[in-house]
Amino acid sequence: AEPTGSLVDLLTDAARRFGPRVALDFYGATTTYAGLADQVARAAEALRRLGVGTGDRVALVLPNCPQHVVAFYAVLRLGAVVVEHNPLYTADELAHQLTDHGARVAVVWDKVAPLVAGRGAVETVVAVDLTGALPRLKRWALRLPLPKVRAARAAMTAPAPDTLSWSALVSGAAPLAADHPAPRPTDVALLQYTGGTTGVPKGAVLTHRNLRANAAQGRAWVPGLRDGAETVYAVLPLFHAYGLTLCLTFAVSIGATLVLFPRFDVDQVLDAARRRPPTFLPAVPPIYARLATAARERGVDLTSVRYAISGAMALPPATVDLWESVTGGLLVEGYGMTETSPITLGNPVASTRRPGTVGVPFPSTEVRLVDPEDPTRDRAPGEAGELLVRGPQVFAGYWNRPDETARVLLPGGWLRTGDVVTMDADGFVTVVDRIKELIITGGFNVYPSEVEEALLRIPGVREAAAVGVPGGDGEQVVAAVVLDPGVGAGPDSVRSACRQHLAGYKVPRRVVVVEELPRSQIGKVLRREVRDRLLAEG
Ligand code: ATP
Ligand code: MG
Repeated sequence: AEPTGSLVDLLTDAARRFGPRVALDFYGATTTYAGLADQVARAAEALRRLGVGTGDRVALVLPNCPQHVVAFYAVLRLGAVVVEHNPLYTADELAHQLTDHGARVAVVWDKVAPLVAGRGAVETVVAVDLTGALPRLKRWALRLPLPKVRAARAAMTAPAPDTLSWSALVSGAAPLAADHPAPRPTDVALLQYTGGTTGVPKGAVLTHRNLRANAAQGRAWVPGLRDGAETVYAVLPLFHAYGLTLCLTFAVSIGATLVLFPRFDVDQVLDAARRRPPTFLPAVPPIYARLATAARERGVDLTSVRYAISGAMALPPATVDLWESVTGGLLVEGYGMTETSPITLGNPVASTRRPGTVGVPFPSTEVRLVDPEDPTRDRAPGEAGELLVRGPQVFAGYWNRPDETARVLLPGGWLRTGDVVTMDADGFVTVVDRIKELIITGGFNVYPSEVEEALLRIPGVREAAAVGVPGGDGEQVVAAVVLDPGVGAGPDSVRSACRQHLAGYKVPRRVVVVEELPRSQIGKVLRREVRDRLLAEG
């Protein structure tokens, strides 16, 4: 059934049904659902007094922490729009997004306040002090662009805009009047920037209805979850679409206890697991591999985790085997994008999975495979094509980008995903690659994923990225590889090994050995950066 309320109603329901239950655990400091609802009401009143109202964007620049969750729901309660940002962004990256969305109020980690103050349309900065948690955050904070923060602070000649203290503001406020108008399902809840894998992130406009529909679909996908009895580990960043929904809005919809980690850290997760065993763990493949390996080595019991939900990138079958043998729980792969709230296909949890596929469409979701050159033409069964998606979770368009919106949102409500996929006779979808990253060489199309798979089959090759660089008749395939330490293989042996698995035109013309591959905030390989580096090095 179509959800009728807002995301805030899900929190209100959880507070009513599970008031004394722990909602948030941050390094052992806990907040109950009743306490969370109360803080949200006070924070909403404080933000209302700062002038925040319906449709206003409010920027959040925070790591995972309790204040992040309170601010998120407080903004929504006012009918305003949350905009999430990576607190490790540079001054330029932040300024670009702040200018794009024009928020006047920003709730930020105090360490990065100078990067936000006065940028874009920001008039008021509310600073969150995480000093109490800082010793634990230390390793993470080392990645902060601190010299830039200092420079920004020094360069602030104009009078700094108001910087207020979040804790003083919230503790000093009365709860928002209960009859303050509630957000409607069709109101915009979130302006969520895409992952930035293929270019500058675009702001995806998501409504309460989109996000509630996706939470309900997630629930139907994993029917074994119990209301008011799960413990969700939020190791993914809440500023990314995937973490924000699975670790927050979905988790709150089932009254789960959220254990918040500012960033994924094996030691911290295994420590917490002894104290408050996780039962539901949304993450990405490299996290599962590292956790399972460490848990096995150190004898930490992770058998409490019944469901692990992987997305964002291909899940290697070896990771599934490793995870399931260590935990005894299920590791299931789904597929989605920011523009679909985000998860929209998933492998069945209760029946047979197909490893290597991303599963079947969610309830009330339709898919089509079309010709990427002409999306009005459907592909014949069995042929690869661009995946189109239609359903209540599909976004309302990109912020400030009418052309891009018109390009991806087709008449009839179909969304172009930009991903080429295949579908088997039972409707299981396999992701081939992104259309944008297709390499065209000598008149042939080469999917980088196919080259990478061949490279990864060569013993000693740990990671691989294939890209097209100008040369020959159009582009040439070039690959960057990370080798296992102590492996004798070099670029030449890698190239010749490739010839066993790939047609001649797909074999990389050049193989470059690198220390590591550049990755996005959620861990995806950034092929465009690999390409830029290879071009720069000639
Ligand atoms: P940008 O759109 O800014 O370039 P992005 O596409 O990486 O970045 P997201 O919305 O976070 O931003 O990611 C969605 C994309 O992630 C999908 O379009 C798809 O290419 C990829 N993806 C998601 N799940 C999977 C999966 N299970 N297997 C392979 N690829 C996946
Ligand atoms: Mg994308």
